[in-house]
Amino acid sequence: APGPTVASVLRRGYAEYADLPAVVDLSGNVTTYRELGRDARRLVAGFGSLGATKGDRVVVLTKNRSECFTIDHALAIGGFVRVALSYRLHQREVAEIVHDAGARIVIVDGERTSELAAELASFSGRLVSIDDVSAPTAIPFSSLFGDAEAEAVDIRPDDLVWMPYTSGTSGKPKGVMHTHRSLLSILRNILVELPGASTDDFLVHTAPLTHLSGYAMMAYFMRGAQQLALDHFDPGQLLSVVEKHRATVLPLVPTMINMLLPTLESGQYDVSSVHTVIYGGSPIAPDRLARAIKAFGPVFVQSYGLTEMPYNSYLSKQDHDFDPAGTVPERLASAGRVSPFVEMRLMTADGPAADGESGEIQVRGDAAMSGYWNLPAETAETLLEGGWIATGDVGRMTDGFLHVVDRKKDMIVSGGFNVYPTEVENAIYSLPEVAEVAVVGIPDERWGETVHAVIALREGCEVTQDQVEQACLSSIAPYKRPRTVEFVDELPKTGTGKIKRREVKERFWIGRDRLVNG
Ligand code: ATP
Repeated sequence: APGPTVASVLRRGYAEYADLPAVVDLSGNVTTYRELGRDARRLVAGFGSLGATKGDRVVVLTKNRSECFTIDHALAIGGFVRVALSYRLHQREVAEIVHDAGARIVIVDGERTSELAAELASFSGRLVSIDDVSAPTAIPFSSLFGDAEAEAVDIRPDDLVWMPYTSGTSGKPKGVMHTHRSLLSILRNILVELPGASTDDFLVHTAPLTHLSGYAMMAYFMRGAQQLALDHFDPGQLLSVVEKHRATVLPLVPTMINMLLPTLESGQYDVSSVHTVIYGGSPIAPDRLARAIKAFGPVFVQSYGLTEMPYNSYLSKQDHDFDPAGTVPERLASAGRVSPFVEMRLMTADGPAADGESGEIQVRGDAAMSGYWNLPAETAETLLEGGWIATGDVGRMTDGFLHVVDRKKDMIVSGGFNVYPTEVENAIYSLPEVAEVAVVGIPDERWGETVHAVIALREGCEVTQDQVEQACLSSIAPYKRPRTVEFVDELPKTGTGKIKRREVKERFWIGRDRLVNG
């Protein structure tokens, strides 16, 4: 049946906000909503000239850049399916996804163009290059913009629009299918929790637009805001851009908030224009969050979600507000309250968990994916009867606040006791010298597994194993403390800044009979 779609809402915006700035770039060039709409329609015509038609999958492998906005708008209003993936994937992995998605067009930028062109030598679709890189098989992006503008395409709420591939911190990448209906529901769920999103807003994107923050981008386009894309994360650059443009909204991930702290605390930049920092995607240590709130003020909003169903809970600005002179409240360790448009249940092996008891987080609602692309068995494992999505996360509910305990498969079983790495990591993060930490279970003859911490320190800092132990003993049960500690320069991370625990853990288990969830 017909009904509102992401396409219809965006199209309305081109007229409603016509003369307002939509996209601003680092050199100060401004694209208005009218121009954005026109460019998007020209690009739809350009895709058409390459033989693409409604429903075709288009893979986008780019860093954040202004063209991403035009591409995303064109794909949505043209009825195409935007396949998003991490820029850091190996070209072989990209090629696998191109093949899996049956893509008609692949758009690539910069240094990735030549290598991908080589990898896709036998690709039957078209490769489009945003930058002029000498790859003979690639079509220049600029050539897709002729005078012709595409006619409005008839798009239905059940048509697919976004198909991000999960970054694969837990295994093989899967295409997550979102329709115009589910994407519109996601955008509604965001806007309801960020009241006041308006034409006065200015967003700076430094987290990859291809992932969860891409949803925030679309939500703010619906409200006539201006947006600027940074192609990498650099604390000084981000804060100077914020100061220069008087930016108001920053979508960030916890790793970035953590990395921003020293620059933020130095007070070098005027960030008083920022009223909202929306973040999520992985846990944040309460201690680091408290520091961020002290430096930035109560501008934070956290959400818990996953590609399959994002933005399920919110820790509001009010909930982030606390007296810096007092102790850090318990709710700052939570991911907030469940969104009004989401049903959530916590399931144990024996049924629903009692209040305060841990269980698997399951969610349902109209923002849920419709399944994994071409993977009926995996879909059935995650999309349960009754429309529940099994998240694979363990959570507990305390006083109406959702505590995301950890991923089920990351749990360490040591001598019959369960240890959740996040809890141990949070304790270790109370040492300000610690830049990053990953806690994993390593094989042990006697206990099965023992707790091991891999720590990257801030430059020029030192910490002893004893200090790590003391930090743990002051906040968690003694059996959870790491038995061994290892110091490294840096931890492996995904394109969205998540620490890859699985990769950290793997090398301890190679050749063992218990390679966990390989
Ligand atoms: P995979 O590829 O294995 O699905 P991923 O990290 O790529 O992993 P995403 O959909 O990007 O998958 O991330 C979703 C996961 O991130 C959640 O299942 C949860 O473990 C974690 N997460 C998201 N938001 C929060 C939050 N606010 N607090 C704690 N953890 C969170």
